[in-house]
Amino acid sequence: MATIDHVHVIGGGLAGSEAAWQLACAKVAVCLHEMRPNRKTEAHQTDALAELVCSNSFRSDDHQANAVGLLHEEMRCAGSLIMAAGDNHKLPAGGALAVDRVGFAEEVTNRLAAHPLVTIVRDEIAGLPPSDWSSVIIATGPLTSPPLSTAIGQLTGEDALAFFDAIAPIVHRDSIDMDIAWFQSRYDKPGPGGTGADYLNCPMDRRQYEDFVRALRDGEKTVFKDWEKDTPYFEGCLPIEVMAERGLETLRYGPMKPVGLTNAHKPEEKPYAVVQLRQDNALGTLWNMVGFQTKLKYGAQSAIFRMIPGLENAEFARLGGVHRNTFLNSPRLLDCQLRLKVDPRLRFAGQITGVEGYVESAAIGLIAGRMAAAECRGHELAPPPETTALGALIHHITGGHIDRGGTGPRSFQPMNINFGLFPDVAFDPAPEGRKLKGREKSLARKHAVSARALEELAGWLAASQDLQAAE
Ligand SMILES: Cc1cc2nc3c(=O)[nH]c(=O)nc-3n(C[C@H](O)[C@H](O)[C@H](O)COP(=O)(O)OP(=O)(O)OC[C@H]3O[C@@H](n4cnc5c(N)ncnc54)[C@H](O)[C@@H]3O)c2cc1C
Repeated sequence: MATIDHVHVIGGGLAGSEAAWQLACAKVAVCLHEMRPNRKTEAHQTDALAELVCSNSFRSDDHQANAVGLLHEEMRCAGSLIMAAGDNHKLPAGGALAVDRVGFAEEVTNRLAAHPLVTIVRDEIAGLPPSDWSSVIIATGPLTSPPLSTAIGQLTGEDALAFFDAIAPIVHRDSIDMDIAWFQSRYDKPGPGGTGADYLNCPMDRRQYEDFVRALRDGEKTVFKDWEKDTPYFEGCLPIEVMAERGLETLRYGPMKPVGLTNAHKPEEKPYAVVQLRQDNALGTLWNMVGFQTKLKYGAQSAIFRMIPGLENAEFARLGGVHRNTFLNSPRLLDCQLRLKVDPRLRFAGQITGVEGYVESAAIGLIAGRMAAAECRGHELAPPPETTALGALIHHITGGHIDRGGTGPRSFQPMNINFGLFPDVAFDPAPEGRKLKGREKSLARKHAVSARALEELAGWLAASQDLQAAE
């Protein structure tokens, strides 16, 4: 039973192009609205669909040892247009998938334009979509045009739509040295839903603290692009190096204050300063450095944050940043079908949902397109299993993130795919009687996650196919 005869996709970027392709491949007619070239963004240069606004890299293509490589592979299995065009326009780049940006965008544009079920309309949707559009995918990206972002903000509420990222680095839990760090909440306060030992604490003595503050001040910073210069700093959310520049003691009275904490390894020694990390995902595999949003360059961040006792070998799931970005507070606003809870005809895809990166944005477009196609036929397609890269991503934005119940600063921040988003996996830690350690063990785990993901994705794709066949 067909209930909806076509879907409107707003935004012909990475996510919108992929969503339109998945819909058309599922035999659903699509109207793809792209505002360029009539209205430009600050970053796009051309009128092509799926323009890559900055680097030309889709990052690692190693599907066994790298989470974004695994996402590539899953998307290929799902017939992704973005991956097919990327593969067709591949450039030499070692283990990474780099693409010729012109050829890539041309192929995406031409294949969509040639599809009989796709109509490309060059118009800006300057407000909420008309009420007679019964199925809409909004994929307008980090630079959503102001009239639409204002309308979404009004529909969803004041703090539901962010206009910039102030991101603190996120660390893989298993790379933190627990012989140095310890669990404790300040003054052992359990707070709502806590235990009194909810934070990981890394202690510093005076010399370590002063060296650290100097390194923050001297570290190389990224500069705002011209159009980002108005990006607001909130006093409660200042970059860590800006606080360091305000005075040697500022951080000790801010995010690094040592009060209410006792070093569990050396209770007799009072730490001079403490860096706290807070659990960031429901699995407990990722930990956020509290108050450490930063504009330091990535290389400087890794080097400086590894000066923190306990984080000497830290592996970062993502580094910090401050830049313009429009994204929803998705864990609050979207259901597991990526639909807006207050207006379910509107489904979201791409970076606006709180993923980060070309491939991740396209991946959410792929899922949204398939879900909308199933809905057009009167069915509901369940999200991909959390054990797959596609499933881990959608789970992060619609449920896996820890909701702090509206207390404190908003904590949901955009995320790249990484192995910390996957549930634990069983693997043989001693193949052929030889116990694996360190990198070998970590690699064996990644291989097991990847093998499980590809196996379980096959089931989801088959279910998706069955829904297409069922009229
Ligand atoms: C300056 C900048 C640099 C970045 N660099 C990288 C990088 O190097 N590597 C990386 O992986 N990621 C990068 N990103 C992050 C991100 O992954 C990309 O922005 C990605 O393109 C997001 O995909 P998307 O489909 O969600 O949005 P986009 O690809 O931006 O597509 C959104 C589309 O919607 C259109 N649109 C907006 N509003 C409307 C409207 N009201 N009506 C109709 N059309 C509209 C836009 O013109 C655009 O074509 C960068 C982001 C920015 C802003």
